[in-house]
Amino acid sequence: MRSIRLALMGYFLLLVGVALGAVFFLVYRTSSETLNARKAQTRALLEAQHQSDCDDARAALDQRLVRSAQTLANLARATPTHFETLYPLGVLGIAVAPNGYLAGPLWLAEGFHAPLAYQLYRIHPQIVHIESADDVMHDQDSDYFQTYSAHGRPLERSTSLGETWLTLDQDVRKKAELLRENFDTLELRPGHMVRRVTLKATVPRFGAPFLQPLWRFPLNPGKAKFSRGGRIPKSFDATAIFVQYASDTSGLDATLRDLKSRLDSDLEQQEHATDEALAGLRTRLLGIGGLAFIALLAGTYWLVRLGLLPLRRLSDAVSRVSEKDFRLQVEAAGLPGELRPIASCLSETLEQLRRAFAREKQAAADISHELRTPLAALLTTLDVALRRPRSVLEYQEILEDCRTTGAQMTQQVERLLALARLDAGADHLQSQKVNVIDLATQCSDLVRPLAEARGVTVRCHVDGPAVLSTDPDKLREVLNNLLYNAVEYNRPNGSIDLTVLRDNGTLALEVRDTGIGIPVEACEHIFERFYRADPSRHADSLHAGIGLAIVKGYVELMGGTIRVESSSAGSTFLVKFPDAE
Ligand code: ADP
Repeated sequence: MRSIRLALMGYFLLLVGVALGAVFFLVYRTSSETLNARKAQTRALLEAQHQSDCDDARAALDQRLVRSAQTLANLARATPTHFETLYPLGVLGIAVAPNGYLAGPLWLAEGFHAPLAYQLYRIHPQIVHIESADDVMHDQDSDYFQTYSAHGRPLERSTSLGETWLTLDQDVRKKAELLRENFDTLELRPGHMVRRVTLKATVPRFGAPFLQPLWRFPLNPGKAKFSRGGRIPKSFDATAIFVQYASDTSGLDATLRDLKSRLDSDLEQQEHATDEALAGLRTRLLGIGGLAFIALLAGTYWLVRLGLLPLRRLSDAVSRVSEKDFRLQVEAAGLPGELRPIASCLSETLEQLRRAFAREKQAAADISHELRTPLAALLTTLDVALRRPRSVLEYQEILEDCRTTGAQMTQQVERLLALARLDAGADHLQSQKVNVIDLATQCSDLVRPLAEARGVTVRCHVDGPAVLSTDPDKLREVLNNLLYNAVEYNRPNGSIDLTVLRDNGTLALEVRDTGIGIPVEACEHIFERFYRADPSRHADSLHAGIGLAIVKGYVELMGGTIRVESSSAGSTFLVKFPDAE
């Protein structure tokens, strides 16, 4: 990312966004789970309530059926047909019948011995009648009843049944206990469902009213087991009947449908409420998330701005640096620890830059000065020569002087060009196998006349063959520069030793002189361009502090290294190349 501020903000927001997203997701998930659990509970509750309501509705119908069936059973009267009348007739028959005395004891015994009458009574068909049965029915159109004798013989039926019958199932008849209800649902007519109850009830039996006292005779306590209400006199026995009472289920179905639709609407309402609650939660979370994001954005911007303030101060200080003022105008103590090393490195670099800039300015001044001096000398020489006519010999001398001055100027300009080419990276190596021994010997031979003219001895030490794959012109330039400097800065009667050494695949060229030496503080600067350890010492254009800068540039271009050791006894320059053969 191009901007630290944007990068920091981006990463921070991403981090917080992910954290917020995770938190919101968890909150939403937990809440939705809770809501869904509550929804399931409410649903189960509603369904249970619905089931209970349905059961109640069914039970209400069943209860009504039972009540109606019981009412009918209460109203049922068993009437023995003709039997009561037979008894007095039988007794009278004793008197009038010719052989009445035969049957007389039997009839009389019957009068005093109820069990016999009872047995006769039992096997005698009964008529069970329910008076005004249709009137006691809940609804004469949609309710139905039918009674059966204990043996399954149909007795009475409601007029609402018309042609249809409420049949009595044999299983029900056999297994039914007294007064135990048996419910079922059946299709009375096609498409017409009814709910039915079948119950077995006892109906009191009693004789004709005028014979009732007879049944209460003390010797005949009878089997009077039932006394159903005050209206019905006690009978000595009872008979069982089956009462079936049925009712149309359309009312129940409608109620159940209503209940179902109420349940559906309740469930839908509850679903809707849950969805609304979840939607509300989502909206709230989104709102909170949005607000939190905006607050975070503003906070992050402010924090990053605050955090980058020292960097901004440093950047302002750097932007105030100019060619006129190389000072970094910032309080290092006021900067955070992370920026202090940067500020101090920057200050150092600026100081070096300032010195280099000063040197370059000085060098430019020096070069122009050095070039101006020979140019002025050249012009003066030419002016003097042109003042009057001269002899050929005089003209020759003057031209010779002019040529020397021009050559010096050319050499200086070429060195400047070499530096410029190194700077631009336009200088390339023309590599070939170079016999370094030969080259060193040639260089020392070249410098020897000049050295000897100054009383300096030049020696060349070689140790076996040394071949290097490199650019011979550049290597020659390096050695010449070092040797000329060794002559230049030597003492009278001093010496120069050029040694070629081979060691572990490296090749070293050592130029040792017994000259004036280089101050320690100057040693680290002498390879900088336009640097001169003692500018006052040489005031000619050939010593502008360019030589060693070119030497270092060439050595590095050839893949080697150069270093200098110096003392008051002289200086030693050591050039090393790897991969020597
Ligand atoms: P110059 O052309 O001025 O000699 P150089 O780049 O060759 O420039 O040298 C830079 C400076 O290094 C010189 O001005 C001189 O002060 C110092 N110098 C170089 N070689 C030697 C040496 N052999 N002995 C002492 N000083 C030296």
